[in-house]
Amino acid sequence: MYGYWGKILRVNLTKKSISAEYREESFWKKYLGGEGVSAKILYDEVPENADPLGPENKIIFAVGPTQGGSNILGNGRFSISAKSPLTNIFGSSMAGGYIAEELKKTGFDVVVIEGKSSKPVYLFIKEEKAEIINADKLWNKKDTFETEDAIKEEIGDSKVKVAAIGLAGENLVRYACVICNYGHGIAGRTGMGAVMGSKNLKAIAFRGDKKVKIADQNKLKALKKELRKIISEADFTKANRQQGQAMAVAPREEIGLLPIKNFMEDKWVNGAAKISAGEGYPFNDILKPRPSACSNCIMGCHRRVKIEDKKYGMDGYGPEYETLAMLGSNCLIDDLIALNKLNDMCNRYGIDTIDFGATCAMVMEAYEKGKINKSDLGNIELTWGNADGVINLLDKIVKREGKTIKILGEGLKISGEKLGCPEAALHVNGAAVVAHDPRAFLSMAVSQSISMKGGSHTHGFSEAIELGVTFPEAGKELSKKLDPHSDEKKGLAAAKYQDLMAVYNSIVICFFYQFSNVTFTHLKDLLNAITGWEISNEELLKTGERIICVENMFNIKHGLEPMKDYWLPKRFFTPHKDGGAAGVEMPLRKMIDEYFAVKDWPNGIPSNKKLKELSLDYESQ
Ligand code: SF4
Repeated sequence: MYGYWGKILRVNLTKKSISAEYREESFWKKYLGGEGVSAKILYDEVPENADPLGPENKIIFAVGPTQGGSNILGNGRFSISAKSPLTNIFGSSMAGGYIAEELKKTGFDVVVIEGKSSKPVYLFIKEEKAEIINADKLWNKKDTFETEDAIKEEIGDSKVKVAAIGLAGENLVRYACVICNYGHGIAGRTGMGAVMGSKNLKAIAFRGDKKVKIADQNKLKALKKELRKIISEADFTKANRQQGQAMAVAPREEIGLLPIKNFMEDKWVNGAAKISAGEGYPFNDILKPRPSACSNCIMGCHRRVKIEDKKYGMDGYGPEYETLAMLGSNCLIDDLIALNKLNDMCNRYGIDTIDFGATCAMVMEAYEKGKINKSDLGNIELTWGNADGVINLLDKIVKREGKTIKILGEGLKISGEKLGCPEAALHVNGAAVVAHDPRAFLSMAVSQSISMKGGSHTHGFSEAIELGVTFPEAGKELSKKLDPHSDEKKGLAAAKYQDLMAVYNSIVICFFYQFSNVTFTHLKDLLNAITGWEISNEELLKTGERIICVENMFNIKHGLEPMKDYWLPKRFFTPHKDGGAAGVEMPLRKMIDEYFAVKDWPNGIPSNKKLKELSLDYESQ
């Protein structure tokens, strides 16, 4: 087999057992790797009543055929998946940094961890072997950065790459994340850090040098040469390297996409100007960031930052767009140095800045309306724009201090309901609506409501076609830019870009590369050169569709009701009064019905005909 080892590492922490399992090429061809393979394993193996924080849940680290030998640009990413403790449905998060290549070079494509250790442990995976190691010295003592240092020292190898949880994961905050390589890579969404915490698993360390076989080296070499030229010449590559994703803040404020004051306001011109990167904005002057790239990337959109300051000093990674928006504009905080510090603290504690930002905004709104008071919050005056208040709140949430604050660690859905402010808890199936106001780009209204993992932008970025990144391989209708404020073809766009993203997240390539003129046809050609397959664009898109279908079946199996639950919070049905998206109405039912029709999921449930077409052997319900 080319491009794959065909091997899944199985670790049972209850039994302390380690084994390897081989899967035939047909399995990999059907689910590709990364998110796709993880969805299939979770569907088959996690029982419907499984507590996401219980031993029956499984957490899966996975890469695809592009890692461990091809050195393709943009392949420095991998997936972590499990039943999510935040949403109770399919959970998955993509991370960058250096783990992806290292994982594959251990001789495995996928690592599946189940059970629960009786004591804190970490896992060390090296060249077809794995070892469960005591982590008493780390648990409740070391943050995510210190954990990586301590593991490298204990193993005696500075080249080991570590994915770790912090206090948030240990204390089962439901939106705890997994931090890789000192915050260079972050699997932020859907509480994967809490799943690790529930298993008493502090970290996984990877070290490997093995390389997979490539089917057609000459073809791959020619493709890589062609793509390097295309990517290097793209305007997006240059901008992403020079400015990073912080460059999106001010332009997105202008078009109405930026979340402002818990999505209640329309404009924040001066605030956005204070925290944005780009020509005429201060991000680079204040933080003096250095571009930092995941493995095999020439963009380097991550920002390495060091600030010497008594109060806000830090040495790590700077904030990206989602963090600046969810903790900045959404909470009306315009102090860039404080936001940078907050981001660093979130990385060290291992907490998702998107869900944490949405939680802070919800609390600020509830505080303003008198539904939560200062004493509920351990004496914090959580007014809009109060950065120090948010820093204090973060500290208390990860430590689960006090009755109200403990509830805030349960995520938006539970805390909104329990604290009497569900209208301010802006989530889809428990996961925060991300920093892409669905009223500004109507395809994102569908993509976020129908995301298989709750509110998300990395599981279907249909906004791309409204920005001009078309998808002709999916048909003529998607070969030209769509008007962001019109509902025309938005169900179709959401369906096809979701399938496209499933391919990106499964083979696994960074989705930013599509903005640097990497096409779906390029992905297909790369895949064929690596594996020796002769798959067509149509077949590859069908594979993406299959993966999403399995995720939907997982969700239905675990209790999701498609017609009710694939939906957006009420707030988004009131149009903006001002700003770039003023007056845009959102006919969500109509757009979702179009999506269901494109997918052949009547009322959100895949038809038997569709299941047969996708070679899935589940019965339609
Ligand atoms: S563009 Fe950014 S996220 Fe994507 S691989 Fe490069 S550095 Fe990583």
